[in-house]
Amino acid sequence: MEFVGYTLQVVVILIPLIVVIKWVQLTKGRKKAYQNIKETVVEPMSDLGSVKTLEVLPLIDYYTEDNNLKTEPGVSYLIKTDDTTILMDVGFNKQKEHPSPLLQNMKALGVSVNELDSIFISHMHLDHVGGMKEQKNRQFSMSQGFQQLPEIPVYTPVQMGPSDFNPGPVEEVIQNPTKLGKGIASTGVIPRFLFLMGETLEHSLAINVENKGIVLIVGCGHQTVERIIERAKKLFKEPIYAIIGGLHFPVKQGRIMLGPINLQNVAGTDKMPWNGLNESDVENAVKAIKETNAQYVALSPHDSSDWSLDQFRTAFKEKYHEVAVGKVLKL
Ligand SMILES: [Zn+2]
Ligand SMILES: [Zn+2]
Repeated sequence: MEFVGYTLQVVVILIPLIVVIKWVQLTKGRKKAYQNIKETVVEPMSDLGSVKTLEVLPLIDYYTEDNNLKTEPGVSYLIKTDDTTILMDVGFNKQKEHPSPLLQNMKALGVSVNELDSIFISHMHLDHVGGMKEQKNRQFSMSQGFQQLPEIPVYTPVQMGPSDFNPGPVEEVIQNPTKLGKGIASTGVIPRFLFLMGETLEHSLAINVENKGIVLIVGCGHQTVERIIERAKKLFKEPIYAIIGGLHFPVKQGRIMLGPINLQNVAGTDKMPWNGLNESDVENAVKAIKETNAQYVALSPHDSSDWSLDQFRTAFKEKYHEVAVGKVLKL
């Protein structure tokens, strides 16, 4: 009895204490991130140039229409413009496989690592850098076994290099908006302080397609789509033509569950868990995207629920496109 009483006392004291500590960390971190956003001066990028063609091939995401391809709650997209091929993020590889789902899908889709001109890592989260160990070690892995890569640049938002599994790429940390090639740029990082995950620096790709406008390709979307749009408007004179990728709406349901806990909802926002993401966040995002008059919208299912996907389908109708592994998005 005495032991039970003692345990109860510890629990009664410990849980509120942890909640208070987390609340203080979150409040401080969020304030710092907001301050940083407010103080960042964004100069227009006048010499971006444009590309004639753009295709985005999801190599890893949560859904596919082809049973021969692997799916998981992670992201890896092959982005092909006129003469440049970029691999954006390297998936999750939750089961620590070799060859990883990413390598298996690349093989099935006839994509070779030798085609790549660069790798772009949106942010250092496990579902984008090839695993939990990679996130912890500040590295990325395309697989949990050896895969030589060409000596190409890997653009990262924080210091993080390739793991021993995939030597070759040369790390280049990018935090400010930066032109990466003709018509291709990083939006620069927009910070967000997340409950559990802490400070998260994420950047997105922006590609200017001739006679169309800016195509924004987003990893997890922790920045919030509202802030990504705001950044793009400051950077580019061209209209926003498309928004593709993860916008982080695990509302009502999530892709990564810990028992009954919707981990993406708890870990991926800058609110306390009981205030997590909700329907109004999705509504606000839809409204913000509509205001840009974007003509092409494709939401990644890796960090958004089926309910959120439905909201987007209904809102954007013929402008909406499914993100599915193996299905090319032609811009
Ligand atoms: Zn993600
Ligand atoms: Zn993330």
